[in-house]
Amino acid sequence: MSKSEPVKPAHFIRQIISKDLDSGKNDGRVATRFPPEPNGYLHVGHAKSICLNFSMAEEFGGTCNLRFDDTNPEKESQEYIEAIKRDVTWLGFEWHADVRYASDYFDRLYEFAVELIKQHKAYVDESTPEQIRAMRGTLTEPGQDSPYRSRTVEENLQQFERMRAGEFADGSAVLRARIDMASPNINMRDPVIYRVRRAHHHQTGDKWCVYPMYDYTHCLSDALEEITHSLCTLEFEDHRPLYDWVLDQLDVPCHPQQIEFARLNLNYTVTSKRKLKQLVDEHHVSGWDDPRMPTIAGMRRRGYTPASIRNFCEMIGVTKSEGVVDVSMLEFAIRDDLDKHAPRAMCVMHPLKVVITNWNQVAEQSLTIPAHPKDETLGSREIFFGNTLYIDRSDFEEEPPKGFKRLIPGGEVRLRGAYVIRCDEVIKNEQGEVVELRCSYDDQTLGKNPEGRKVKGVVHWVSAAKALPVEVRLYDRLFNHESPDAAKDGTDFVDHINPDSLTVITTAMAEPSLQNAKAELPYQFEREGYFVLDSEDATADKLVFNRTVTLRDTWAKSQK
Ligand code: ATP
Ligand code: MG
Repeated sequence: MSKSEPVKPAHFIRQIISKDLDSGKNDGRVATRFPPEPNGYLHVGHAKSICLNFSMAEEFGGTCNLRFDDTNPEKESQEYIEAIKRDVTWLGFEWHADVRYASDYFDRLYEFAVELIKQHKAYVDESTPEQIRAMRGTLTEPGQDSPYRSRTVEENLQQFERMRAGEFADGSAVLRARIDMASPNINMRDPVIYRVRRAHHHQTGDKWCVYPMYDYTHCLSDALEEITHSLCTLEFEDHRPLYDWVLDQLDVPCHPQQIEFARLNLNYTVTSKRKLKQLVDEHHVSGWDDPRMPTIAGMRRRGYTPASIRNFCEMIGVTKSEGVVDVSMLEFAIRDDLDKHAPRAMCVMHPLKVVITNWNQVAEQSLTIPAHPKDETLGSREIFFGNTLYIDRSDFEEEPPKGFKRLIPGGEVRLRGAYVIRCDEVIKNEQGEVVELRCSYDDQTLGKNPEGRKVKGVVHWVSAAKALPVEVRLYDRLFNHESPDAAKDGTDFVDHINPDSLTVITTAMAEPSLQNAKAELPYQFEREGYFVLDSEDATADKLVFNRTVTLRDTWAKSQK
């Protein structure tokens, strides 16, 4: 198996769908949906759900809807809707027909509620929220019937209509399904299915002052869209009896099968929209698309590619058991993709001036080198060699530690793609700091080894005359705790923000080919990592690069 071809394990959801197709269930149709609530930006956990829903539809010749589950208008917004659509499209998926909204079905949902009332399977409860909570019982004790539970159908129809007409204050009445107050499953103890909320809705405006609850809305929206397999995360397992109960009472076009899978948890990461929103609102990050955020928008800006995220989702698989995935797997996926596809370039982070004393031409020499060591289709790039160059400060040591292979006084090193140079003289300032190296180059070493001696080190460099000053942003993990939101010591997840998660380098000098850099087209800066132009802050006059990921996984080691 090659690293580039992700395996397609026969995970249990693939197996269920195959079996359903074989048995002719659903007339051989496969219809899935991705149902985000537009109350924040999508994160890497959602990517897992998106990849699963869309790829099951694709693989089995079915369809996948994008449906906004918009039953909480106060927390939702058009900004989030647009961001979610952008992210799904960017990941490379196409939803079936138009975008759907649960709010498209508010009229139908209201009619279904009236139907439940007529069957004496729903009632208007005017108890206070506290009373309802107190009567719900506990895991070990059954609930108690509300005094309103025995209301007549007539009275319920009337009161529900009055709820819709705005005659009840917010929170003063709810519609509850009449199921079983003694059920061992608390979700079945007469759950609330409608509440009064005077809230402006981003899709339906001020039309409604009653809004259906999530559990009631979700199953009916699935049924109305004739979804066959309703894939959701494990926390909904206990809600499945309610999902099925609602559909069993009503005359709906289809009864989808709810199947639960384990959500993605990543170490050193939080994947909860509420917490991500807190990071944004409290300005711990610059926004939802801050490159340190595990949001799809953040990962895009950071330089992650859609293919790397999709491969990652294949790699982690789909199971029924909760686990924590190591964030280094995500980093592996992006390195693997970028190693193959990212053009190379040189960028010196902390420049040290190098004067080539035996360079006696006025003009710089143009050198054409491949953009990628293996992929010729990526073409070539032009670099320049001349009198004054920059190498990285860390590539020169006056008193080298053992095993140091780069430049030392009197020693030689190869400049990547160019000549071997020798350091003849070290120039220092008054503080004794090295400010310049005087070197000579061996004109017989372009593209070949020097005669009679071995030069081991290779360093990256740029021509001072042609280099572009650039800003470089290095990112580290946003949290320095393995499970920031589950620390056992009473700390809050924001207490574990890594204070060094962003380092800005303003001194960097880059080779001229980077003038053409574009957001979302990552480069490998040789020996430094993978980088991409920042989509927000880069301008024609000021190039800003984000480090997507380092070349190797050095993180675990550096923490020890
Ligand atoms: P959050 O907990 O971050 O607020 P959510 O579940 O409330 O997420 P939704 O917008 O309701 O967010 O999620 C849309 C879909 O994505 C749901 O089907 C949900 O199960 C799925 N999903 C959310 N988080 C994850 C995750 N970490 N792993 C896999 N699927 C997820
Ligand atoms: Mg949710």
